[in-house]
Amino acid sequence: MKPGRIINNFLLVLVACLCVYVYLVLFPQVLFKEKVSYRNFNIYSNERIDNKIFEIIDNAIVELRKSELYDSTKKQKIFFIHDSFYNRLTGDYNRELLGYHEFFINNTMIVPKVDVKENTLIGIDGRLHVLAATIVHETIHSFQENRYGFFKVLRTPEWKLEGYAFYIARSSKVMNNGHLSVEYARQCLNDVSKYQTRKGYWLYGFMTGYLLTEKGITLDELMNDSIKYQATLDELIKWYWQNRGMYQLFASI
Ligand SMILES: [Zn+2]
Repeated sequence: MKPGRIINNFLLVLVACLCVYVYLVLFPQVLFKEKVSYRNFNIYSNERIDNKIFEIIDNAIVELRKSELYDSTKKQKIFFIHDSFYNRLTGDYNRELLGYHEFFINNTMIVPKVDVKENTLIGIDGRLHVLAATIVHETIHSFQENRYGFFKVLRTPEWKLEGYAFYIARSSKVMNNGHLSVEYARQCLNDVSKYQTRKGYWLYGFMTGYLLTEKGITLDELMNDSIKYQATLDELIKWYWQNRGMYQLFASI
């Protein structure tokens, strides 16, 4: 065979491999043995998915309905990728995450090993997390794109996207009787020193919760460029110290 032909064949194989790789990254459904379809969710895994998943999805939807972004017609794909070929294919680069959402192709990946029966997953820091809350968090990202579009979401600062997802997924902790929970803020501050909580998502959640509830702005206003990170953080800190002071005052009476 002529050298030119060998190079051509080699390039052909290379391009074919690249195409297969891109296809599998975009449409990894074929890499998973198990699939459960329930309501608007498709869940993929290599291990048998316990029937508890139905209750988990039901509960996740109850939480998702707290968001005005909820859309029951929007299909969701959730992949349990721990120890999967997909994970090796993508270089295992997301090990420290609980989950991540891929915009545009609308795939949600749950990273650590899940225990569906117990509704849990264990983060890389060893802490136990609620699987339903992680599903809610990542699904909110899907709804953000559904409402605002891919390009708007791309331009939106991380603290707003993550903050809103955190705020909805943990609303029962972030909020207390319709107000931000000072106790939960205190607990998160303690966790920061203990676990070095990743990227301060909890703080973004409080900033978002502060704007939407204490300040009463709308979600569309939150997405507006005029709402800035530093100004919001300054206001939240002021709010926290005022309320913390009040809490201590009441406690001392
Ligand atoms: Zn997120």
